[in-house]
Amino acid sequence: MAKKIVIVGGGISGLTAAVYGAKAGFDVTLYEQHTVAGGECTGWNRDGYYIDNCIHWMMGTTPGSDLYRLWETVGAVGEGIEIRRFPAMYTSELEGQKLTLWQDADRTEREMLALAPADAKEIRQLMRFCRLARKVQIPAKIPSELMGPGDGLRMLLTMGDALKIFRAYQGMNVQDLMDRFSHPLIRCLISDFTPADSQASSFVMAYGNFISGDGGIPAGGSRAMADRMRRKAEDLGVRIVTGKAVEKIRIDENAGHAASVLLASGEEVPCDYVIPACDMSVTFGRLLPKDRMGDLLREMYADRKAYPVYNTFQTALAVDSAENPIETETIWNCPEMVFTPGMGERITVKSYAYEPDFAPAGKQILQTLQGGRENVYEYWVRLYQDPQAYQREKIRLAERTREQLELHFPQLKGRLTVLDAWTPMTYTRYCSAYKGFYQAFSISKDSAKLPYPPAWMEGIDNVVLAGQWITPPGGLPGSATAGKFAIQRILKKEGRAFRL
Ligand SMILES: Cc1cc2nc3c(=O)[nH]c(=O)nc-3n(C[C@H](O)[C@H](O)[C@H](O)COP(=O)(O)OP(=O)(O)OC[C@H]3O[C@@H](n4cnc5c(N)ncnc54)[C@H](O)[C@@H]3O)c2cc1C
Repeated sequence: MAKKIVIVGGGISGLTAAVYGAKAGFDVTLYEQHTVAGGECTGWNRDGYYIDNCIHWMMGTTPGSDLYRLWETVGAVGEGIEIRRFPAMYTSELEGQKLTLWQDADRTEREMLALAPADAKEIRQLMRFCRLARKVQIPAKIPSELMGPGDGLRMLLTMGDALKIFRAYQGMNVQDLMDRFSHPLIRCLISDFTPADSQASSFVMAYGNFISGDGGIPAGGSRAMADRMRRKAEDLGVRIVTGKAVEKIRIDENAGHAASVLLASGEEVPCDYVIPACDMSVTFGRLLPKDRMGDLLREMYADRKAYPVYNTFQTALAVDSAENPIETETIWNCPEMVFTPGMGERITVKSYAYEPDFAPAGKQILQTLQGGRENVYEYWVRLYQDPQAYQREKIRLAERTREQLELHFPQLKGRLTVLDAWTPMTYTRYCSAYKGFYQAFSISKDSAKLPYPPAWMEGIDNVVLAGQWITPPGGLPGSATAGKFAIQRILKKEGRAFRL
């Protein structure tokens, strides 16, 4: 009889584990607390508009890589699914000047040099490493501890350029990288991608991936992709149970073995393996006692400087216009929106004109995203204790965002209506996200050299962790590979072929 796997959480990681588990012949049941699967990779409807809430760019959308094969296997990409690609990654604005990260790296370099000739040497060096990062691929074939000598060699060949980049930017964060440049707009462009305490190489890797022509968005956006993955899993026989939270993993301490999971509804479900693919703060604290956490994970939660998390205030706005109101995703300075200490001045505005179905005919939809430091979460937690005050503040800030947008982009004047606003509490309420953050711990200068918590726990032989928190800093590729790797780890334990 097929062995039973229970997956906790129907985000991208849980859905990936479900597909690979079913393909490997396991009897798979996935429990998702929310009424829909997808986790943070989702979207919702408002007043005839669709608000897409995840994919700005997705690595592995170009055929040829292991990551693409993973996405294809789980139904995220593939035949008949168009990939939306864009000429620019984003545009940064400061004091009336603009600079864009084009897919055409030569154009970006030319424009940077014209803007800041004094930074020529640094610009050339940065662009050289970004071009090198074009060939870097996310390891998605096999977990590192299962690699044989052939895999190691293959990884060295595909990761050789990545190693050169890591070496060049070793010990540097985004702030250090910015400090190599004197022009304020170039400094802004670099820090607009990730916060100043993140690893400097993250900017280089991300832009390199974009230059390569990867980093597209599957047509239909985030919810459509999660729905396809759910259907794929169900077609393979996975039972996906939504609206049911898992409360506990029952451990037989003598055997060092999880015997069953206990649902919040009171049902007990026996199983041979459990894959917690939910937020790690749920795994340790709710499903399992906190003291089951390994040393590295414990250190990550304790050392808030070395492993920062962030949060965002976001809005969606209807635009009374048939034309695309903003050509590229644009980030501009808006000190008027700093509503509490720790909130950033930079606001990203993105148009979804590339998906005409997201708005009614003759209209468009824009979304804004404003980042904050970890402490801002407490601001929203306090407000949320009074639901009316929380609602009032969301509306006030959304209206203020609308006013600022209309002031900054004259073409939007009188054309915007607020559709929705959401906060870190939204991610905590719907996904149980730690401090309302929709990614995992960021990697900083003070992080461990290999900040990847092990998937197996000491003293329990059949619970294998998945989800983005074991692949910091998270994101879709990390979530998906963690899901696939969980199944490979189980196959190895079963003594079966694990090269999927
Ligand atoms: C605005 C935004 C923009 C983003 N942009 C990008 C991007 O451009 N590119 C990119 O790569 N990534 C992006 N991300 C990040 C990406 O969405 C996440 O990294 C990824 O979706 C996380 O997947 P996951 O499965 O690891 O975790 P989650 O999505 O958090 O899934 C965990 C699931 O577990 C469920 N759960 C929790 N507790 C329980 C329980 N007790 N019982 C049952 N179920 C439970 C939750 O409800 C949730 O559905 C973005 C996210 C957001 C919100």
